[in-house]
Amino acid sequence: MTKIIATFNQAGGVAKTTLVQNLGYHLHLNKHPTLLVDMDPQGSLTTFMGLEPHELEETISNSILHEEIPLPIHLNLHGCDLIPANITLSAVELQLASVMAREVRLKQVLQSLSSTYDYILIDCPPSLGILSILSLAAATHVLVPIQTHFKAFKGTELLLDTIKQIRKHVNPQLAIAGFVPTLFTNANQDKSILEALEQQLSSLAKVYPAIPRATAFADAAMNRQPLAIYSPKHPSLDVLNKIAQGMDRL
Ligand code: ADP
Ligand code: MG
Repeated sequence: MTKIIATFNQAGGVAKTTLVQNLGYHLHLNKHPTLLVDMDPQGSLTTFMGLEPHELEETISNSILHEEIPLPIHLNLHGCDLIPANITLSAVELQLASVMAREVRLKQVLQSLSSTYDYILIDCPPSLGILSILSLAAATHVLVPIQTHFKAFKGTELLLDTIKQIRKHVNPQLAIAGFVPTLFTNANQDKSILEALEQQLSSLAKVYPAIPRATAFADAAMNRQPLAIYSPKHPSLDVLNKIAQGMDRL
């Protein structure tokens, strides 16, 4: 069965999109057919994967709003397929307002792919609005990047509560694929927050080793490449590989 994993955190800048881009590449390296779905109107994932969001006529917006088939899938961008997004997605909330059963629109769109892929990774926007709800309703699992920073730490209560609400009202089967501490530095504060996060979260799901803050991640994204291509010997590749292997055990 296809595992549909939404990378969710209502905070921005916690490396959600970077995780989707790189995890997708590592799943591809492990021979898994993988589709990435951009659900952020900013289209960062679409950009990281080498496309120009504003130039695209066909995006996930068309699929969600008009149930257009075939889906606008771009094939084999560094080994992964991609359904892109752009700013038109920001109007979807309003446009779906009067649509029945709108929460399951993305789920229905992805169901048409049946078993083409081993993994579908959904990149959520940094909000708790309808676009995140659509993503979490379509997902079998949620993977949660959390920045090792006190502000992000405070947000985890809200985040866990959101997952609870989604399970209660929209998707009772939703499982937590794990927590990924991100943007970790060697500062004492980061270390104590990492420890606190492990204590708070490890009873709920696996807490992965932290992904360090390293400029190579940002440089790779600017270059529109996964880290493994941009910097093939980078020490953080080991963590990314561990996360990819963890997805096989779900
Ligand atoms: P989000 O999707 O949660 O908003 P992004 O993945 O877009 O976050 O990351 C935010 C910024 O941080 C981007 O510029 C990205 O290149 C950079 N970044 C992501 N991961 C790292 C890292 N491990 N080290 C340094 N910079 C990173
Ligand atoms: Mg993002």
